Amino acid sequence: MPEALPSGERIFRGIPVSAGVCRGKLLVLGLARPVIDKRPVSETAVAEEINRFEKALVQTRHQLLEVQRKVSDAMGAHEGSIFDSHLLVLEDPMLLDEVIRLIRNEKVNAEYAFHAVSERYAATLAATEDDYLRERVTDMRDVTARVLNNLLGLEDEHDLRRLKEPCIVLGHDLTPSNTAQLDRRNVLGFGTDVGSRTSHTAIMARSLRIPAVVGLKDASGQLESGQYALLDGFNGLIIVNPTDQTLYEYGQLEKKQLTLQEKLRDIVPRPAITLDGHRVSLSANIEHVSDTDAVKSQGAEGVGLFRTEYLFLERQHPPSEEEQYHAYRAVAAALKPLPVVIRTLDLGGDKFLSHMHVPAEMNPFLGWRAIRFCLQERDVFREQLRAILRASAEGNVKMMYPMISGLEELNQANALVEEYKAELRQESLPFDEGMEIGAMIETPSAVIVADFLAKRLKFFSIGTNDLIQYALAVDRLNEKIAHLYEPTHPAIVRLIQATVDAAHRQKIRVSVCGEMAGDPVLAPLLVGLGVDELSAAPPLVASLKFVIRRLKLAEAQELARFALDCESAADILSRCQELAHEVAPGLFEDSLAIAKSPA
Ligand code: PEP
Ligand code: MG
Repeated sequence: MPEALPSGERIFRGIPVSAGVCRGKLLVLGLARPVIDKRPVSETAVAEEINRFEKALVQTRHQLLEVQRKVSDAMGAHEGSIFDSHLLVLEDPMLLDEVIRLIRNEKVNAEYAFHAVSERYAATLAATEDDYLRERVTDMRDVTARVLNNLLGLEDEHDLRRLKEPCIVLGHDLTPSNTAQLDRRNVLGFGTDVGSRTSHTAIMARSLRIPAVVGLKDASGQLESGQYALLDGFNGLIIVNPTDQTLYEYGQLEKKQLTLQEKLRDIVPRPAITLDGHRVSLSANIEHVSDTDAVKSQGAEGVGLFRTEYLFLERQHPPSEEEQYHAYRAVAAALKPLPVVIRTLDLGGDKFLSHMHVPAEMNPFLGWRAIRFCLQERDVFREQLRAILRASAEGNVKMMYPMISGLEELNQANALVEEYKAELRQESLPFDEGMEIGAMIETPSAVIVADFLAKRLKFFSIGTNDLIQYALAVDRLNEKIAHLYEPTHPAIVRLIQATVDAAHRQKIRVSVCGEMAGDPVLAPLLVGLGVDELSAAPPLVASLKFVIRRLKLAEAQELARFALDCESAADILSRCQELAHEVAPGLFEDSLAIAKSPA
């Protein structure tokens, strides 16, 4: 329940995922699943109900034809034709007859009848063995949601790429591709009912520097568009109708933040060296070619993780080898001689591509994702590997595979790289023969066999976002168990230590590119454990540098020794907080009295 204060101020608490404060009108996105009531209708009203249903079908048809026209104009007839199957649902005689029969025989309202029948159809499709039919479930649900919206008189889903005025977007959920396409000029911040810190929606918000709060439970169901609110991405709050006192407190907070930003700007060009002379590499995680500007302006020393799957999202067809080559080459050229680590396609989990025909799975994070997908979809992998190899001729390109769970996958992927290198030599296409290949360490099994992997690789990059979820068996997207998702769990500390040890024994470098690396409270622990490089969203790099430049390696190592010996995640976290607050107090002046008051 939100806290309702006598002043009329209401506070909704969630999980802070992207720092910053914004205020403005809320834009509440329609519920993904409207509530469908069953209403009896009288004998005489049955005809009217059928009439309403038929009108909603016609209205939906007009809307779909309009969407189809826009898509065809913008992207071509082929892309527009994807809506043909949506339109066919509206003409399916079996479905429509059954709905009308249900309205007549049971004397129920049209939305109930339509919802009941279409859900049964969707469930049958979802259960078929046929991949093509199973994939039609999404089309079916898209169409049925439109018909229901029309029957219920609800507004069509807003187009988040083009908003009329500045607003705070609030919805039940946002997909990573929705987030990547948000209208940057008009989205002041966003909140979602579900989600967690390491969901790709949250990661995207941080790299776009959009203040964001997730895990707000049912806030989107309780709030309405047009209400005035303040969103606090530091403390994870949405405050509706903030009082003058609250606005004043936030004004003070923003002043402190401005002063901090000025201090951070000063250290951007300086290296990340501890007070006792230990050098840490700080690089950036990027999702788009255009992020290279931010890499440079935030003082990162290259790209530690290029999430290439974003080139594949937001579009109808996968990018060709040529298109990928141009994208990778552009990043390499812009940052040369700085290194750019390109991660091969990490599809799956919470990143779905409509054009790749990936069927829905019960456990997508344990399913057909990342390297597993690529090793089976050889054409997709080949185009990407060739594009990366070709781009390596241009700058300091390195490549890494996501989700490696054992040696077999690594050997298979490496064999493919050799095969494509041979092809390129045959075609006289240049590439860097010595391009370094690394792997992400994201599964406990990879940590356990890290010594085998290290012999065949040039570097490791620990993906703590996944490593934590797999090691602790805590779904990284589920806000209900977010409290169990503990980066300072003793098991995680030990897994990181084991990875560092295995890498250093083989004299290869270790980076951390999960969200843990971007947290100035946890960075000293990673440095103390021997991690050579931290890679984080560009806006976080300066804060990391700020902490590292005020820290001694000896203090970080002492913290790591404590953590390796400690039985409690909470105690490890407290020690990390103590050290970070001691060395860089100015970084943490972002919490307010209102945020601390009990929920
Ligand atoms: C990770 O798992 O830590 C990581 C960096 O990869 P992603 O967040 O893209 O899964
Ligand atoms: Mg990962």
